[in-house]
Amino acid sequence: MAWYLNHYHCQDCNAAWSDEWSCCCDDDCPQCGSRHWSPYASEDLTEIVREQDGLFVVMRSPDSADHKPRYEPIARFTSNELANRFIVDGELT
Ligand SMILES: [Zn+2]
Repeated sequence: MAWYLNHYHCQDCNAAWSDEWSCCCDDDCPQCGSRHWSPYASEDLTEIVREQDGLFVVMRSPDSADHKPRYEPIARFTSNELANRFIVDGELT
């Protein structure tokens, strides 16, 4: 499933926080309890790169994952740049 790291900012008390969700949903302020703030920024964590034994492994959270992302390796690269290019392009070039 898709997985996002959402960044929030409460305009009532100026608190900033971030949380991981399976969607870009609203969150409540952890400091003052003000409700239904929409994220001002979201990072897509559906695909991430992890360094493993000197290789850069592209991990993807499959649709079958439930409430938490369960990453599975889908490709390995010799450099971080190649791994990130794979995520952007979505294919091996
Ligand atoms: Zn607040």
